Amino acid sequence: MSETVESLQVLLEKHAPWACLTGAGISSASGIPTYRDHHGRWLGSQPIQHQEFVEQATKRQRYWARSILGWPRVHRARPNQTHHDLVALETAAVVSGLITQNVDRLHQQAGAQHVIDLHGRLDRVRCLSCGHIETRARVQDWLEEHNALPALTSVTLLPDGDADLPAAFIDDFRSPHCDACEGILMPDVVFFGGTVPVDRVQACYQMIDQAEGLLVIGSSLSVYSGFRFCRYAVQQGKPLVILNAGQTRADELCVRKFDDHPFSLLSHYAANLDPSTPEHRHV
Ligand SMILES: [Zn+2]
Repeated sequence: MSETVESLQVLLEKHAPWACLTGAGISSASGIPTYRDHHGRWLGSQPIQHQEFVEQATKRQRYWARSILGWPRVHRARPNQTHHDLVALETAAVVSGLITQNVDRLHQQAGAQHVIDLHGRLDRVRCLSCGHIETRARVQDWLEEHNALPALTSVTLLPDGDADLPAAFIDDFRSPHCDACEGILMPDVVFFGGTVPVDRVQACYQMIDQAEGLLVIGSSLSVYSGFRFCRYAVQQGKPLVILNAGQTRADELCVRKFDDHPFSLLSHYAANLDPSTPEHRHV
């Protein structure tokens, strides 16, 4: 075992169990791209804002027209090694639960037991008027039935299932409505400028309260909704450890940062875990 893997192991096993906060970096190996590069800079166009979606029919048309093409790729995505490594850490009681900023449900697909979808889930759609929940798969069927898809040679996929495409297609696009009340349907995710439900935020604080430390994996923590948990953990006197290639907003708060091939480092550590004996931890 290399010295770095060993130092990760010593640190994680000394303070276990950890609450774990995950971000877009984890899902990129599953074919879901990230919004930002390693320096936290934006890649591509700005994502849709919550208020725009709620208030402007043309913005909704734009969202759904792009989403009809982008969503299938998210739908088809499968967990990668890092998702599986985190299941191994949970099984070995090194990790007590996950707070994910990803909306792709890949942690759950991999078999993780305790996951809070901080920013919601892309596989569901919610009515803004009556709260009715619909599956995104069913909405996809409706969208494909009521809209003619353009023959596109290349479509750029964005992290929330968004995609780039011609203006004419967007202008004629038919947006879905609620079956129950004809209200506006919105993906069950927290858009930029939107608010994470209070009870969900409280559940995250509780997960951190019950853990010995906070481990961040694959996130630059650029968005406040995730960053606040780093501040909270540190205020509670709990160690913050970061596994991320590139700068994060919490670099100065953490006790240790691993930024050289963090996912393969985690894999090496996970491969050495014996899931049958969580007591191997020297606490
Ligand atoms: Zn409704």
